[in-house]
Amino acid sequence: MSVETVNRGYVYSGTPTSDEAERYFRQCFGADRLMYNLHVAHLYAYLEKNGHTIGEKLPTFKEMGMPTVKEFKQVRVDDDGNKYLYEVDAFASNEAKQHFKKAMNLFNKDAFKGQFKKSALKRQKTLGIEPTFRDLKGMPKFHSRKNSKLSYTTFNQSDNIFIDENNVLHLPLAQKSKLSGVAIKLNTHRPLPKDGRIQNITITMDSQGRFAVTINVAFEMEIESIGIPTAECILGLDYSQANFFVDSEGKKANYPHYYRAMEERLATEQRKLSRMVQGSKRWERQRLVAVKLHTKVANQRKDWLHKKAYTLANRYDMVVVEDLDLRALGQTLKLAKNQQDNGFGNFRLYLKYKLEQQGKYFVKAPKSFASTQICSDCGVKNTALKGDISTREWTCTNCHEQHDRDHNAGLNLRNYGLRWIDEVLLAPSLVVA
Ligand SMILES: [Zn+2]
Repeated sequence: MSVETVNRGYVYSGTPTSDEAERYFRQCFGADRLMYNLHVAHLYAYLEKNGHTIGEKLPTFKEMGMPTVKEFKQVRVDDDGNKYLYEVDAFASNEAKQHFKKAMNLFNKDAFKGQFKKSALKRQKTLGIEPTFRDLKGMPKFHSRKNSKLSYTTFNQSDNIFIDENNVLHLPLAQKSKLSGVAIKLNTHRPLPKDGRIQNITITMDSQGRFAVTINVAFEMEIESIGIPTAECILGLDYSQANFFVDSEGKKANYPHYYRAMEERLATEQRKLSRMVQGSKRWERQRLVAVKLHTKVANQRKDWLHKKAYTLANRYDMVVVEDLDLRALGQTLKLAKNQQDNGFGNFRLYLKYKLEQQGKYFVKAPKSFASTQICSDCGVKNTALKGDISTREWTCTNCHEQHDRDHNAGLNLRNYGLRWIDEVLLAPSLVVA
């Protein structure tokens, strides 16, 4: 038996307890957006002045003399006497800086490709307007009031975030705020873990003006190890485009059909929306129809993923998956959409914690593991399959065994799990952190 600290996020819908509180939250969202945009503006001004060579990374904060969050705040006061950045949660501003940094890092990762957005290329073709650095794919851009997700995150410091006996979540205020307190009433549907410590919370408001709170909690959990998994309790899961996954027992995940039906309706509503005048009353009404469907689909998907992960985690002692780079996979071919919808990444996450909290094992085979090319019977690698994703069935050139592509991959992953037990679990001295 071991005691481990576990972090988990809980999402609740909620209602601000007063108009004042709601105004405060909106101000925090605004501050987050403003602070982000100040960073973007500084970056753009720097690139305008010093030029930007397409294909190069963005300059560092130091190189472009990026002001600190504190300096940005001071400038805003001098500009128009507006002190509101001081009256909202300080973390909201700091988070904005972190998000901006993240956006820069993401851009830098692919900067060498120097690709322009399709819309910019179209403009160049039809109107003769040359694209600039602003049109590069992934370039951090201004968050507009309309299209941004509204949220801010704040951190618990000496219990200044707490839930009272009436299920009201109390939040910290900025030092200079004139308010006496802000709070949000939670519509609790499941309790937080006993003795859980609130680490941080994120307040969000969706496009329908509804509030939600994500509470990140740390708590101690007693975990009893199940010992060494036996062969029949190990499952290999191969990610499959068509079936979500195929396992080492040849079973398919049976991704629900109602989901696809909903997708069609969603596309219809989206098409209707695109034909309306943006910003008009009818457009706004239609937008809400589409948003509601989106939310419903997302909830159905999440629900299904959780249930599936729950079933597997109860039935098996070890599940082995491939360490896929899901983003890269989505970018090749036209798989992106399918792939996103399936949420295999989230599924692995749910599966991992549902297994580990029972003292069971979640194992990832490395990217280099050629699960689709190896013959699960004789172990010979059939390299002709490399990069070929259309062949569904094949015959091993060595032992002439016939294979279903996905089932074979599932079996290989299961075999990897068996080896992992010998090489890692039973030889702890070899474990490399
Ligand atoms: Zn073979």
